[in-house]
Amino acid sequence: MDDCPLPSIAAVGNTCSTCRPIYDEIAQHRFQQISQRFFGDLADQLPMVLYRSKGAITGSTVQEVLSGPTGSPPRDLNIVVPKGYFLVMEDRMLRQYYKEYEEPEVNDMMDFNLQQFQAYKWDSRIVTVSESLGPDIMDIIVNSPTTTDMNLMTAGGVVSLFPRHTLAYDGLLGPTGGWDLKEGGRFGSVNGVRAAVQVDNRNTKEDCGPRCPSLWRFVRTDRNTLRLNWDRRYTVQDIIENSQMEWRVSIECLNPVCKYGVHKKLEGRSFTYSEMPATNYQIVNRQRDIAYRVPV
Ligand SMILES: [Zn+2]
Repeated sequence: MDDCPLPSIAAVGNTCSTCRPIYDEIAQHRFQQISQRFFGDLADQLPMVLYRSKGAITGSTVQEVLSGPTGSPPRDLNIVVPKGYFLVMEDRMLRQYYKEYEEPEVNDMMDFNLQQFQAYKWDSRIVTVSESLGPDIMDIIVNSPTTTDMNLMTAGGVVSLFPRHTLAYDGLLGPTGGWDLKEGGRFGSVNGVRAAVQVDNRNTKEDCGPRCPSLWRFVRTDRNTLRLNWDRRYTVQDIIENSQMEWRVSIECLNPVCKYGVHKKLEGRSFTYSEMPATNYQIVNRQRDIAYRVPV
């Protein structure tokens, strides 16, 4: 059972009170293995530092916890913290072993979407810390390059915005993911399996349903997300419940069998181009056109 996907173990854990502690133990063990791999004898401090800084872990190590540890483990750990907590994380967890490191493949989103970003290296281990522009770290998670990365984890729980994509190593490009990922390309190295990139969802064979990438989602109430908890002291629930993030993966859905049919509604239609009104006279005319439903 130790190598099974965590959602399957959680399902068994929920069936009886004897099974529940086994699930808690396996999940905790997976988290501890990762924190020991990256932080050595500081590992015991990680749960509390993450909790106090309102931060979380994202990226391939979360996928390792969700899918189960087999093959070669990821060599990098990605931490996200809200604005104002960057130095707390650096001082408490990184100064002792790690040195600052110039990350060669920094995602373009780092340039405009973060308050601060820094990579650190200790032998072959790499830790990155990303500080969000505001108090909501979900801002960083929903701007991940692909849906496979849209996960976060504390010492007490994990949230996956696209659990099916994550467990299948199948990544649909997000709004910030276009910089060097090509259709069918591979990225990441979780368990020796490299996730496959889908530039869009035109090859989907079934209806998107509520997972349609063109639908707006509100993190706090989104029922499509997977939420698993194993230690209430460090619950991941607080991060989700305090989030105000409303977002979507893309403005269009290209799935031909999607019941929302966003692509069909646009097919064969030409939208007339009209310029922004520049004078008061043009503004009055435009208001009249809108009032009388004249196409503008
Ligand atoms: Zn769709």
